Amino acid sequence: MTKIKIGILGATGMVGQMLVSLLEGHPWFEVTSLAASDKSAGRKYEEVMENRWSLAGGVPEYARDIKLEECKPGLDCSLVLSGLDPSAALKIEEDFARAGYGVSSNAKSHRMDADVPLLMPEINPGHIGLIDIQRKKRGWKGFIVTDPNCTTMGMSLALKPLDDSFGVEKVMVTTLQALSGAGYPGVPSIDIVDNVIPYINDEEDKVEEEPLKILGELKGSSIKKAKMVISASCNRVAVKYGHTECISVKLAKKTDVDGLVDAFERFKPLKGLGLPSAPARPIVVLRQENRPQPKLDANLEKGMASIIGRIRRCSILDYKFVLLSHNMVRGAAGAAILNAELLKVKGYLDG
Ligand code: NAP
Repeated sequence: MTKIKIGILGATGMVGQMLVSLLEGHPWFEVTSLAASDKSAGRKYEEVMENRWSLAGGVPEYARDIKLEECKPGLDCSLVLSGLDPSAALKIEEDFARAGYGVSSNAKSHRMDADVPLLMPEINPGHIGLIDIQRKKRGWKGFIVTDPNCTTMGMSLALKPLDDSFGVEKVMVTTLQALSGAGYPGVPSIDIVDNVIPYINDEEDKVEEEPLKILGELKGSSIKKAKMVISASCNRVAVKYGHTECISVKLAKKTDVDGLVDAFERFKPLKGLGLPSAPARPIVVLRQENRPQPKLDANLEKGMASIIGRIRRCSILDYKFVLLSHNMVRGAAGAAILNAELLKVKGYLDG
Protein backbone atom coordinates (compact mmCIF):
# COMPACT_ATOMS: atom_id res chain seq x y z
CA MET A 1 0.00 0.00 0.00
CA THR A 2 1.34 3.49 -0.87
CA LYS A 3 1.54 5.52 2.30
CA ILE A 4 -0.16 8.92 2.57
CA LYS A 5 2.33 11.78 2.86
CA ILE A 6 2.01 13.74 6.09
CA GLY A 7 3.46 17.10 7.16
CA ILE A 8 3.77 18.27 10.76
CA LEU A 9 3.25 21.99 11.50
CA GLY A 10 4.81 23.08 14.80
CA ALA A 11 7.09 20.02 14.69
CA THR A 12 9.50 21.49 17.26
CA GLY A 13 6.90 21.94 20.03
CA MET A 14 5.75 19.53 22.74
CA VAL A 15 2.86 18.25 20.62
CA GLY A 16 4.96 18.31 17.44
CA GLN A 17 7.62 16.01 18.88
CA MET A 18 4.96 13.62 20.15
CA LEU A 19 3.53 13.54 16.60
CA VAL A 20 7.01 12.81 15.21
CA SER A 21 7.40 10.00 17.75
CA LEU A 22 3.94 8.40 17.36
CA LEU A 23 4.10 8.44 13.55
CA GLU A 24 7.31 6.38 13.44
CA GLY A 25 6.44 3.22 11.48
CA HIS A 26 2.76 4.13 11.04
CA PRO A 27 1.14 1.59 8.68
CA TRP A 28 -0.78 4.18 6.59
CA PHE A 29 1.14 7.45 6.97
CA GLU A 30 4.65 8.60 6.15
CA VAL A 31 6.05 11.88 7.51
CA THR A 32 7.60 13.74 4.57
CA SER A 33 7.65 17.35 5.85
CA LEU A 34 8.41 19.00 9.18
CA ALA A 35 7.72 22.71 9.66
CA ALA A 36 8.00 25.31 12.41
CA SER A 37 8.68 29.04 12.77
CA ASP A 38 11.16 30.81 10.51
CA LYS A 39 13.78 30.77 13.28
CA SER A 40 14.00 26.97 12.93
CA ALA A 41 13.47 26.69 9.15
CA GLY A 42 16.36 25.49 6.98
CA ARG A 43 18.02 23.49 9.78
CA LYS A 44 18.01 19.72 10.31
CA TYR A 45 15.34 18.53 12.76
CA GLU A 46 17.83 16.69 14.98
CA GLU A 47 20.03 19.77 15.28
CA VAL A 48 17.13 22.07 16.23
CA MET A 49 15.83 19.52 18.75
CA GLU A 50 19.21 18.93 20.42
CA ASN A 51 18.17 20.69 23.64
CA ARG A 52 14.40 20.45 23.21
CA TRP A 53 13.59 16.77 22.60
CA SER A 54 11.99 15.48 25.79
CA LEU A 55 10.76 11.96 24.96
CA ALA A 56 12.52 8.69 25.77
CA GLY A 57 14.66 7.19 23.00
CA GLY A 58 15.69 10.43 21.27
CA VAL A 59 14.63 11.75 17.85
CA PRO A 60 13.45 8.82 15.67
CA GLU A 61 15.96 7.98 12.96
CA TYR A 62 13.57 8.72 10.07
CA ALA A 63 13.18 12.36 11.20
CA ARG A 64 16.76 13.27 12.09
CA ASP A 65 17.92 14.60 8.72
CA ILE A 66 14.65 16.16 7.58
CA LYS A 67 15.17 19.89 7.03
CA LEU A 68 12.62 22.06 8.83
CA GLU A 69 10.55 24.24 6.52
CA GLU A 70 8.42 27.31 7.07
CA CYS A 71 4.71 26.70 7.70
CA LYS A 72 3.62 27.68 4.20
CA PRO A 73 1.69 25.70 1.56
CA GLY A 74 4.08 23.96 -0.81
CA LEU A 75 5.03 21.15 1.60
CA ASP A 76 5.30 17.74 -0.09
CA CYS A 77 2.27 16.08 1.54
CA SER A 78 -1.52 15.96 1.30
CA LEU A 79 -2.40 16.16 5.00
CA VAL A 80 -0.84 18.31 7.72
CA LEU A 81 -1.11 17.59 11.43
CA SER A 82 -0.88 20.87 13.32
CA GLY A 83 0.78 21.38 16.70
CA LEU A 84 1.00 25.13 16.13
CA ASP A 85 0.75 27.78 18.77
CA PRO A 86 -2.83 29.17 18.54
CA SER A 87 -1.56 32.64 17.60
CA ALA A 88 0.01 31.16 14.46
CA ALA A 89 -2.55 28.40 13.80
CA LEU A 90 -5.50 30.65 12.99
CA LYS A 91 -4.10 31.93 9.68
CA ILE A 92 -1.62 29.19 8.76
CA GLU A 93 -4.19 26.37 9.02
CA GLU A 94 -6.60 28.33 6.80
CA ASP A 95 -3.82 28.95 4.26
CA PHE A 96 -3.20 25.19 4.04
CA ALA A 97 -6.90 24.30 3.74
CA ARG A 98 -7.37 26.93 1.04
CA ALA A 99 -4.39 25.48 -0.85
CA GLY A 100 -6.00 22.02 -0.89
CA TYR A 101 -4.41 20.31 2.13
CA GLY A 102 -6.35 18.44 4.78
CA VAL A 103 -5.54 19.86 8.23
CA SER A 104 -5.94 17.85 11.46
CA SER A 105 -5.33 20.37 14.23
CA ASN A 106 -4.61 20.38 17.95
CA ALA A 107 -4.92 24.15 18.25
CA LYS A 108 -7.96 25.89 19.71
CA SER A 109 -8.17 28.45 16.90
CA HIS A 110 -10.89 26.77 14.81
CA ARG A 111 -12.44 24.32 17.30
CA MET A 112 -15.63 26.26 17.88
CA ASP A 113 -16.15 27.43 14.27
CA ALA A 114 -19.66 26.29 13.32
CA ASP A 115 -18.45 24.54 10.14
CA VAL A 116 -15.38 22.82 11.64
CA PRO A 117 -15.71 19.34 13.18
CA LEU A 118 -14.47 19.01 16.76
CA LEU A 119 -13.92 15.37 16.07
CA MET A 120 -13.64 12.38 18.42
CA PRO A 121 -14.04 9.12 16.44
CA GLU A 122 -15.57 7.23 19.39
CA ILE A 123 -18.17 9.93 19.99
CA ASN A 124 -19.12 11.89 16.89
CA PRO A 125 -17.72 10.31 13.69
CA GLY A 126 -20.75 11.69 11.82
CA HIS A 127 -19.57 15.27 12.50
CA ILE A 128 -17.03 14.64 9.73
CA GLY A 129 -19.92 15.59 7.42
CA LEU A 130 -19.28 19.25 8.38
CA ILE A 131 -16.27 19.10 6.04
CA ASP A 132 -18.55 19.18 3.00
CA ILE A 133 -20.41 22.19 4.42
CA GLN A 134 -17.09 23.90 5.26
CA ARG A 135 -15.71 23.40 1.76
CA LYS A 136 -18.87 24.72 0.14
CA LYS A 137 -19.11 27.75 2.43
CA ARG A 138 -15.44 28.72 2.29
CA GLY A 139 -14.68 27.60 -1.26
CA TRP A 140 -11.74 25.47 -0.04
CA LYS A 141 -10.35 22.38 -1.78
CA GLY A 142 -8.86 21.26 1.51
CA PHE A 143 -10.43 21.31 4.99
CA ILE A 144 -9.79 21.67 8.72
CA VAL A 145 -10.78 19.22 11.44
CA THR A 146 -9.84 19.79 15.08
CA ASP A 147 -9.44 17.73 18.22
CA PRO A 148 -10.47 18.95 21.67
CA ASN A 149 -8.54 20.58 24.48
CA CYS A 150 -6.46 18.02 26.41
CA THR A 151 -8.73 18.15 29.49
CA THR A 152 -11.96 18.12 27.50
CA MET A 153 -10.80 15.04 25.61
CA GLY A 154 -10.58 12.62 28.54
CA MET A 155 -13.75 13.90 30.17
CA SER A 156 -15.81 13.71 26.96
CA LEU A 157 -14.88 10.03 26.52
CA ALA A 158 -16.34 9.37 29.98
CA LEU A 159 -19.45 11.52 29.51
CA LYS A 160 -20.50 9.86 26.23
CA PRO A 161 -21.48 6.40 27.61
CA LEU A 162 -23.02 8.01 30.72
CA ASP A 163 -25.09 10.36 28.57
CA ASP A 164 -26.21 7.53 26.26
CA SER A 165 -27.22 5.27 29.15
CA PHE A 166 -28.49 7.66 31.83
CA GLY A 167 -28.59 11.23 30.45
CA VAL A 168 -26.02 13.61 31.95
CA GLU A 169 -27.59 16.81 33.32
CA LYS A 170 -24.80 18.45 35.34
CA VAL A 171 -21.02 18.03 35.63
CA MET A 172 -18.59 19.48 38.19
CA VAL A 173 -14.91 18.95 37.41
CA THR A 174 -11.74 19.93 39.27
CA THR A 175 -8.51 19.27 37.38
CA LEU A 176 -4.85 18.69 38.27
CA GLN A 177 -3.08 19.32 34.98
CA ALA A 178 0.42 18.29 33.95
CA LEU A 179 3.22 20.73 33.10
CA SER A 180 3.64 19.40 29.55
CA GLY A 181 0.17 20.79 28.80
CA ALA A 182 1.64 24.29 28.93
CA GLY A 183 3.96 23.73 25.94
CA TYR A 184 7.70 24.40 25.89
CA PRO A 185 9.29 25.92 27.98
CA GLY A 186 5.99 26.26 29.82
CA VAL A 187 5.66 27.25 33.48
CA PRO A 188 8.97 28.41 35.07
CA SER A 189 10.23 25.75 37.52
CA ILE A 190 10.53 28.29 40.35
CA ASP A 191 6.77 28.93 40.07
CA ILE A 192 5.62 25.31 40.17
CA VAL A 193 8.01 23.34 42.41
CA ASP A 194 6.34 22.85 45.82
CA ASN A 195 3.24 24.59 44.49
CA VAL A 196 -0.16 24.39 42.79
CA ILE A 197 -1.30 27.16 40.43
CA PRO A 198 -5.10 27.53 40.51
CA TYR A 199 -5.42 29.20 37.11
CA ILE A 200 -4.81 28.13 33.50
CA ASN A 201 -5.50 30.78 30.90
CA ASP A 202 -8.75 30.09 28.95
CA GLU A 203 -8.92 26.49 30.17
CA GLU A 204 -12.14 26.54 32.17
CA ASP A 205 -14.11 28.09 29.29
CA LYS A 206 -12.83 25.35 26.94
CA VAL A 207 -13.69 22.55 29.37
CA GLU A 208 -17.19 23.95 29.89
CA GLU A 209 -17.96 24.66 26.20
CA GLU A 210 -16.20 22.08 24.00
CA PRO A 211 -17.97 18.93 25.33
CA LEU A 212 -21.33 20.43 24.41
CA LYS A 213 -20.26 20.60 20.76
CA ILE A 214 -18.52 17.20 20.84
CA LEU A 215 -21.54 15.46 22.38
CA GLY A 216 -23.96 17.38 20.19
CA GLU A 217 -25.79 16.15 17.11
CA LEU A 218 -25.22 17.16 13.49
CA LYS A 219 -28.64 18.32 12.31
CA GLY A 220 -28.77 19.63 8.74
CA SER A 221 -25.77 21.92 8.40
CA SER A 222 -25.06 22.64 12.06
CA ILE A 223 -24.36 21.00 15.41
CA LYS A 224 -27.16 21.04 17.97
CA LYS A 225 -25.24 21.26 21.23
CA ALA A 226 -25.74 18.81 24.11
CA LYS A 227 -27.91 20.16 26.92
CA MET A 228 -25.83 19.40 30.03
CA VAL A 229 -24.16 22.16 32.10
CA ILE A 230 -20.52 21.91 33.15
CA SER A 231 -18.61 23.80 35.85
CA ALA A 232 -14.80 23.49 35.73
CA SER A 233 -11.95 24.50 38.11
CA CYS A 234 -8.54 24.00 36.50
CA ASN A 235 -5.20 23.76 38.31
CA ARG A 236 -1.60 23.30 37.16
CA VAL A 237 0.44 20.79 39.21
CA ALA A 238 4.04 19.56 39.15
CA VAL A 239 3.37 16.39 37.13
CA LYS A 240 5.10 15.87 33.77
CA TYR A 241 2.48 13.90 31.79
CA GLY A 242 -1.18 13.09 32.53
CA HIS A 243 -4.12 15.28 33.52
CA THR A 244 -6.15 14.11 36.53
CA GLU A 245 -9.81 15.19 36.77
CA CYS A 246 -12.14 14.77 39.77
CA ILE A 247 -15.60 14.63 38.21
CA SER A 248 -19.11 14.62 39.73
CA VAL A 249 -22.18 14.02 37.59
CA LYS A 250 -25.94 14.43 37.95
CA LEU A 251 -27.84 11.89 35.88
CA ALA A 252 -31.41 11.95 34.56
CA LYS A 253 -32.02 8.22 35.16
CA LYS A 254 -31.37 6.28 38.35
CA THR A 255 -28.53 3.75 38.41
CA ASP A 256 -25.86 2.47 40.79
CA VAL A 257 -22.05 2.22 40.84
CA ASP A 258 -22.15 -1.07 38.93
CA GLY A 259 -24.32 0.62 36.28
CA LEU A 260 -21.61 3.24 35.72
CA VAL A 261 -18.84 0.63 35.60
CA ASP A 262 -20.83 -1.40 33.11
CA ALA A 263 -21.53 1.63 30.87
CA PHE A 264 -17.83 2.58 30.88
CA GLU A 265 -16.58 -0.94 30.16
CA ARG A 266 -19.11 -1.68 27.40
CA PHE A 267 -18.06 1.47 25.52
CA LYS A 268 -16.09 0.19 22.50
CA PRO A 269 -17.63 1.99 19.52
CA LEU A 270 -14.63 1.70 17.18
CA LYS A 271 -14.29 -2.08 17.46
CA GLY A 272 -13.86 -3.57 14.00
CA LEU A 273 -13.13 -0.28 12.20
CA GLY A 274 -9.41 -1.07 12.05
CA LEU A 275 -8.04 2.37 12.98
CA PRO A 276 -4.40 1.64 13.93
CA SER A 277 -4.29 4.15 16.82
CA ALA A 278 -7.68 3.29 18.34
CA PRO A 279 -7.35 1.84 21.84
CA ALA A 280 -8.97 -1.57 22.39
CA ARG A 281 -10.49 -0.08 25.56
CA PRO A 282 -11.18 3.68 25.21
CA ILE A 283 -12.17 3.66 28.90
CA VAL A 284 -10.28 1.55 31.44
CA VAL A 285 -11.81 1.17 34.90
CA LEU A 286 -9.36 0.49 37.74
CA ARG A 287 -10.66 -1.12 40.93
CA GLN A 288 -7.79 -0.23 43.32
CA GLU A 289 -8.80 2.53 45.74
CA ASN A 290 -5.65 4.62 45.16
CA ARG A 291 -5.74 4.69 41.33
CA PRO A 292 -5.52 6.11 38.71
CA GLN A 293 -2.17 7.84 39.21
CA PRO A 294 -0.32 9.74 36.43
CA LYS A 295 3.01 8.04 37.12
CA LEU A 296 1.54 4.51 37.04
CA ASP A 297 -1.39 4.71 34.66
CA ALA A 298 -1.06 7.50 32.05
CA ASN A 299 0.41 5.10 29.47
CA LEU A 300 -2.25 2.36 29.72
CA GLU A 301 -3.65 1.58 26.23
CA LYS A 302 -0.56 3.42 24.85
CA GLY A 303 -1.84 6.70 26.30
CA MET A 304 -5.03 6.66 24.19
CA ALA A 305 -7.63 5.87 26.89
CA SER A 306 -9.40 7.60 29.74
CA ILE A 307 -8.48 5.78 32.94
CA ILE A 308 -11.22 5.88 35.57
CA GLY A 309 -11.23 4.91 39.23
CA ARG A 310 -12.82 5.66 42.60
CA ILE A 311 -16.40 5.53 41.25
CA ARG A 312 -18.66 6.31 44.19
CA ARG A 313 -21.80 8.16 45.34
CA CYS A 314 -21.68 11.95 45.48
CA SER A 315 -23.76 13.52 48.24
CA ILE A 316 -24.39 16.70 46.21
CA LEU A 317 -24.77 15.39 42.64
CA ASP A 318 -25.28 11.64 41.98
CA TYR A 319 -21.87 9.99 41.37
CA LYS A 320 -18.23 11.00 41.36
CA PHE A 321 -15.03 9.47 40.01
CA VAL A 322 -11.40 10.23 39.23
CA LEU A 323 -10.27 10.28 35.59
CA LEU A 324 -6.75 10.36 34.15
CA SER A 325 -5.76 10.93 30.54
CA HIS A 326 -2.40 11.41 28.82
CA ASN A 327 -2.52 15.06 27.76
CA MET A 328 0.14 14.73 25.06
CA VAL A 329 -1.14 11.46 23.52
CA ARG A 330 -4.95 11.14 23.75
CA GLY A 331 -5.15 14.83 24.66
CA ALA A 332 -3.20 16.01 21.60
CA ALA A 333 -0.93 14.14 19.14
CA GLY A 334 -2.63 10.74 19.36
CA ALA A 335 -6.03 12.38 18.87
CA ALA A 336 -4.90 14.23 15.73
CA ILE A 337 -3.56 10.95 14.31
CA LEU A 338 -6.74 9.04 15.20
CA ASN A 339 -8.76 11.76 13.44
CA ALA A 340 -6.48 11.43 10.39
CA GLU A 341 -7.12 7.66 10.39
CA LEU A 342 -10.88 8.26 10.47
CA LEU A 343 -10.52 10.75 7.59
CA LYS A 344 -8.76 8.06 5.56
CA VAL A 345 -11.37 5.39 6.28
CA LYS A 346 -14.16 7.83 5.37
CA GLY A 347 -12.51 8.68 2.04
CA TYR A 348 -11.40 12.25 2.77
CA LEU A 349 -7.73 11.60 1.99
CA ASP A 350 -8.22 10.10 -1.45
CA GLY A 351 -6.90 13.15 -3.28
P1 NAP B 1 4.77 24.57 22.03
O1 NAP B 1 5.62 23.57 22.68
O2 NAP B 1 4.86 26.01 22.46
O3 NAP B 1 5.02 24.50 20.42
C1 NAP B 1 4.50 25.47 19.52
C2 NAP B 1 4.96 25.20 18.10
O4 NAP B 1 4.43 26.25 17.26
C3 NAP B 1 6.47 25.20 17.89
O5 NAP B 1 6.82 24.22 16.94
C4 NAP B 1 6.75 26.59 17.29
O6 NAP B 1 7.88 26.63 16.43
C5 NAP B 1 5.50 26.77 16.45
N1 NAP B 1 5.24 28.21 16.20
C6 NAP B 1 5.04 29.20 17.09
N2 NAP B 1 4.83 30.38 16.45
C7 NAP B 1 4.91 30.11 15.12
C8 NAP B 1 4.77 30.90 13.94
N3 NAP B 1 4.51 32.21 14.01
N4 NAP B 1 4.90 30.29 12.74
C9 NAP B 1 5.15 28.96 12.66
N5 NAP B 1 5.29 28.16 13.74
C10 NAP B 1 5.16 28.73 14.96
O7 NAP B 1 3.23 24.20 22.18
P2 NAP B 1 2.56 22.73 22.37
O8 NAP B 1 2.34 22.42 23.79
O9 NAP B 1 3.27 21.78 21.50
O10 NAP B 1 1.09 23.00 21.78
C11 NAP B 1 0.87 23.09 20.39
C12 NAP B 1 -0.61 23.33 20.13
O11 NAP B 1 -1.36 22.21 20.63
C13 NAP B 1 -1.16 24.57 20.86
O12 NAP B 1 -2.14 25.15 20.04
C14 NAP B 1 -1.75 23.97 22.13
O13 NAP B 1 -2.75 24.78 22.69
C15 NAP B 1 -2.30 22.64 21.61
N6 NAP B 1 -2.40 21.57 22.61
C16 NAP B 1 -1.36 21.27 23.44
C17 NAP B 1 -1.50 20.21 24.34
C18 NAP B 1 -0.41 19.82 25.31
O14 NAP B 1 -0.67 18.94 26.17
N7 NAP B 1 0.80 20.38 25.23
C19 NAP B 1 -2.66 19.47 24.37
C20 NAP B 1 -3.69 19.79 23.48
C21 NAP B 1 -3.55 20.83 22.60
P3 NAP B 1 9.34 27.15 16.95
O15 NAP B 1 9.89 26.11 17.85
O16 NAP B 1 10.12 27.30 15.69
O17 NAP B 1 9.07 28.44 17.67
